[in-house]
Amino acid sequence: GKVDHECEVLVLGAGPGGYSAAFRSADLGMNTVLVERYPTLGGVCLNVGCIPSKALLHTTSVMDEVKTMAKHGITFGAPKIEIDQLRGYKESVIAKLTGGLAGMAKARKVKVVRGLGKFLDANHVEVELTDGTGQDLTGKKEVVRFQKAIIAAGSQPVKLPFLPEDPRIVDSTGALLLKSIPKRMLVIGGGIIGLEMATVYSTLGSRIDIAEMMDGLMAGADRDLEKVWEKFNAGRFEKIMLKTRAAKAEVKPDGIQVSFEGENAPAEPQTYDLVLVAVGRTPNGKKIDAGKAGVQVDERGFIPVDKQMRTNVPNIFAIGDLVGQPMLAHKAVHEGHVAAEAAAGEKSYFDAKQIPSVAYTDPEVAWAGLTEEQCKAQGIAYEKGLFPWAASGRAIANGRDEGFTKLIFDATTHRIIGGGIVGTHAGDLIGEVCLAIEMGADAVDIGKTIHPHPTLGESVGLAAEAAHGHCTDLP
Ligand code: FAD
Repeated sequence: GKVDHECEVLVLGAGPGGYSAAFRSADLGMNTVLVERYPTLGGVCLNVGCIPSKALLHTTSVMDEVKTMAKHGITFGAPKIEIDQLRGYKESVIAKLTGGLAGMAKARKVKVVRGLGKFLDANHVEVELTDGTGQDLTGKKEVVRFQKAIIAAGSQPVKLPFLPEDPRIVDSTGALLLKSIPKRMLVIGGGIIGLEMATVYSTLGSRIDIAEMMDGLMAGADRDLEKVWEKFNAGRFEKIMLKTRAAKAEVKPDGIQVSFEGENAPAEPQTYDLVLVAVGRTPNGKKIDAGKAGVQVDERGFIPVDKQMRTNVPNIFAIGDLVGQPMLAHKAVHEGHVAAEAAAGEKSYFDAKQIPSVAYTDPEVAWAGLTEEQCKAQGIAYEKGLFPWAASGRAIANGRDEGFTKLIFDATTHRIIGGGIVGTHAGDLIGEVCLAIEMGADAVDIGKTIHPHPTLGESVGLAAEAAHGHCTDLP
């Protein structure tokens, strides 16, 4: 058949995994084609994920902080929310970043083909082109012949089948549109994405209920970290219903009426102006005709890969949300680099000792490496060093001393194997813990590293000292 584009490397999907893989491929001298269905590059993360959520969280965290200034003798008036302008700010942040990516693709001569790509065989992808706006498929098709392919088609929100179709029932993408500020909102799912959106909307003025099937929020984090968040947020939400699931929903004239089942279910159905479904994400592996290329896809839609991100078909790699948990942008980026380097014949492997997780809530909750719960489950003997921020001069000066920094060390080698931080800026602070784990640092290495005073970052050094039984006399 006819071939419209020839390349050494085809990358399917332009999220953090895909653009990182495409840029690295081009940097390694390979002629690269990047296929993306949507008008902008950046995938979920830049367009409807990490970045817009952080633009909104930054704004609402400033609103929250301003309220606390009254205690310092500074009072401001009540906030006036111009929602169109707030949405505009969020859009401008996205535009800056996606525009930057388009420029970087051009500078590297990565050819971007806009459309929906599907495999024809292990050397061809057919792309159904989108129109000028990039929104609609046109029926026009182009074929790309490739030597190597990197699949980076990402994931999408899980739907709850019992929920009716209604504009007031949304996923994270819908919630980020910020169409209006609902009076009453239900968040189904107490994971990171649900809690971040709940934080934004509650500051903007929504009364929020959260329903979570499991017995705790923020799955994956150690409970001691999550408890600090929960205590700090006790007044923020109406009801946090653990071990409770939304069981039925009906569209009523005055809102969405939801009935609950489970331990903390309210007896009466509740009516909401907005329902956010944040119960997880499902990989897009089944939507790209991977089978025609001979690529194995498991029953959930994940594509199995080896440590070089290679699928069962030697010239085809897969990366990002589509290859498994954790579904995080920084994991996708690193996998993208490994796949591109492996495609170029380099001996690169994905061999991370840790992949950090962060809930950018207020306070933030961040963890890396092994948690205490994982150590216990795996029978790993560990010791921990804990530094409460109530003893941190900077945290006290900031008026935010509810947090703590915890480091987890292997009891025999004393090397750091994990850590968790809860408090303001925990997501930024965890980076040092990540580096320490990768470098195999021990408690003495970290404790004897001079940190700047007075900073929140100091708490990492002081937690290491605490593990060693030194007194922590620095306020
Ligand atoms: P994606 O970003 O999903 O990109 C896949 C791309 O492929 C998409 O652009 C899609 O249009 C395209 N595509 C798919 N199929 C085809 C096809 N057949 N043809 C052409 N194009 C196709 N992660 C973090 O690390 N930090 C955060 O703070 C964070 N916040 C988040 C907040 C929200 C609300 C959400 C939803 C997610 C968040 N994530 C966060 C997760 C993060 O967005 C994902 O892990 C990341 O985007 C995965 O990257 P990826 O490259 O695997 O795929």
